[in-house]
Amino acid sequence: MVQSYFEGENPDSDEMDQEYPYNFVAHLLPVPNLEWSPLNIDITEYLYRETIRPVEGKMVALTFDDGPGWYTVQLLDILEEYDARATFFVQGDRISENSAAMVRAVELGNEVAGHSWTHANFTGLEPAEMAEEILRTSTLIERYTGVRRPFYRAPFGAIDDMVEQVSRALGYAMIGWTMDILDWYHLDSDKMYHQIVDNVRDGDIILMHDIYESTIIAMEHVIPWLIEEGYTLVTISELLYHNEVQLVPGKAFP
Ligand SMILES: [Zn+2]
Repeated sequence: MVQSYFEGENPDSDEMDQEYPYNFVAHLLPVPNLEWSPLNIDITEYLYRETIRPVEGKMVALTFDDGPGWYTVQLLDILEEYDARATFFVQGDRISENSAAMVRAVELGNEVAGHSWTHANFTGLEPAEMAEEILRTSTLIERYTGVRRPFYRAPFGAIDDMVEQVSRALGYAMIGWTMDILDWYHLDSDKMYHQIVDNVRDGDIILMHDIYESTIIAMEHVIPWLIEEGYTLVTISELLYHNEVQLVPGKAFP
């Protein structure tokens, strides 16, 4: 159980169903320590313009969760070969042993943001535990890459009122997806390729995982196909910027 800023009792589970005043969870956030620091970026100003390329025509954001891992390096080779970018939603407790891949991802122009520390379902956590999952991951990404994003992707995409309120108190928005090819379930490169080729549309955010070899093999074919079809493979920030989307703390996009 994580300590709280304020003494007194945490709301019990019944009270969690009630309406709380704005920012009530700020009182339940963990005490700052060496492991994490609060978000130091205003979400309305965060777009680092130097990472945003001019893009004309169709865009797709490839997103990879649950890494960095063994196969991340292979994926980066493919992205580099085609001058394509992607976004990595990394799991905090996997960063240290694969930090070189994460640093290289950012150096190549890819985007890295958090996907929790332990891949816990946030809807089952106390606010302070959830806050620590987000902040610890975000802080470690910044220590390795110098970059911190005011958004994260929730494990399992699981978001409820409490998750929204804690995110809002911390200043983070959530990023979802528009296409889920269930790469982790099928483990079938051919199937993934056809799902994307048959269904992709301008502006899609495709959910995948860079911890499976089959996903990387699929990307060897998907990435050149998308480029051939006129898509620019963009980061989440590039997609937001070019579609004039303003993220809001505590809200999920799309
Ligand atoms: Zn995940």
